Amino acid sequence: TIAHFPAVKTLEDFDFRAQPGVDAKLVRELAQGRFIASAENVLVFGPPGVGKTHLAIGLGRAAVEAGHSVLFTSATTLLAALAKAESEGALRDKLNYFAKPKLLVIDELGYLPFEKRAAHLFFQLVARRYEKGSMLITTNQLVGQWGHVFGDDVLAAAILDRLLHHSHTLLIQGDSYRLRHKRKAGLLT
Ligand code: ADP
Ligand code: MG
Repeated sequence: TIAHFPAVKTLEDFDFRAQPGVDAKLVRELAQGRFIASAENVLVFGPPGVGKTHLAIGLGRAAVEAGHSVLFTSATTLLAALAKAESEGALRDKLNYFAKPKLLVIDELGYLPFEKRAAHLFFQLVARRYEKGSMLITTNQLVGQWGHVFGDDVLAAAILDRLLHHSHTLLIQGDSYRLRHKRKAGLLT
């Protein structure tokens, strides 16, 4: 296991009552890890602060505990690593590195739009992992916005096609958990 989780979070700490938009039953089912055995993907959609990263870490930990190899990265870190490797003539090795873990978690897709070349590198990785290894992706952008994220509608469609083919999706629509006290204090209304 080479996890690199950015914080200590568990599914036990996740308050499902605070976020009724999350399908608790699906999360518990995903924690069993069968999606990894069958190389299916998980996409977690939602605005900032609703618990996407928390759930991604929790599911990643559950996968580690079940004995799967897991790599946790952010979209920005992943793309920077692929672009650097490409410029150094080492793209193949880097693609192998990200293709290897049974579960690759990619956090925060969509916060920064991709350069055209980066979008193409991302497509190569998705194509490499397709039907071979699971990806868990968190994103603040609904599918309809992915053309903007990747700067190319055709490439975005090809990426989505592969990611969604065998996938589970969680759509979180509630309020930010980070700002719940500010909301209670009336600062946000
Ligand atoms: P996102 O990735 O969607 O922006 P995070 O997962 O980083 O949001 O959540 C923001 C903070 O709120 C984190 O500290 C996280 O642990 C906490 N949090 C979010 N939702 C919940 C929840 N339902 N129960 C417990 N903690 C939560
Ligand atoms: Mg996050």
